Amino acid sequence: MIKSKPYKLVGWEAKREKTVVRVGEVEIGNGEIVIIGGPCAVENREQIMAIASCVRQSGVTLFRGGAYKPRTSPYSFQGLEEGGLKLLAEVRDLYGLRIVTEVLEPQLVELVEQYADVLQIGARNMQNFPLLRRAGQSDKPILLKRGLAATLEEFLLAAEYIIDQGNPNVILCERGIRTFSDHARFTLDLSVVPSIKQLSHLPIIIDPSHAAGSVEKVVPLARAGAAVGADGIMVEVHNFPEYALCDGPQALTPEMFAQMVDEVRQIGSMFSHNQAALAAP
Ligand code: PEP
Ligand code: MN
Repeated sequence: MIKSKPYKLVGWEAKREKTVVRVGEVEIGNGEIVIIGGPCAVENREQIMAIASCVRQSGVTLFRGGAYKPRTSPYSFQGLEEGGLKLLAEVRDLYGLRIVTEVLEPQLVELVEQYADVLQIGARNMQNFPLLRRAGQSDKPILLKRGLAATLEEFLLAAEYIIDQGNPNVILCERGIRTFSDHARFTLDLSVVPSIKQLSHLPIIIDPSHAAGSVEKVVPLARAGAAVGADGIMVEVHNFPEYALCDGPQALTPEMFAQMVDEVRQIGSMFSHNQAALAAP
């Protein structure tokens, strides 16, 4: 007997075409690699405007930045909260960038969705079921990060919660998992990309920054993400990484970011015309 899959909506059984998530002019999952760049956290106006300007100059139109930060320590910078969202709205108006920002709890979705173009659910909240359900009632696309120790099935079932509530626009994000390796912050699980493509119509992007934890590994992992067929790459960028309030050691400088964008686009373009990659297996 063939074991039936535990999920119904995220799998190819439910839908024969790939899900393409539209964010403004950008389509995630259409075969072309999409890049998202920006700092870990919104810190102040000067910082966010400087980084936004560099990201825009690199030809990237999706901008990330956290206003609510899930921090391991309660003593670390927790984000500017609504003040950060307001700065992100200014970034959108000034630079024409679309905003990806994290929402930490169900009660905050209503506020964050007024400012964001894409709501991020972080790795630590991948199985926060009330949050997943509330995100499923939003009309904004959801960027769902894989939990630190989540299996592929658990990851897909988390996406299932969102879609089950009526929101089909889910972007999966691999950001590294916990293994015995201690040379990087997390282990980037590249094989999850072809594995997801086999099982699901949802787009999957790679976040090499949180996996790497230190800047010298970010660009090589971003290149690898593009080569393995990810639908997008999301990286952290900071104008002064050494002064960043959050995740400075893994932040690319604007110059590094510009070069990475070029390289990732070149690698991605080697695959983007492969229509077979867009069809159900
Ligand atoms: C982030 O994107 O800044 C973040 C906190 O990521 P993660 O949830 O993957 O740790
Ligand atoms: Mn971060």
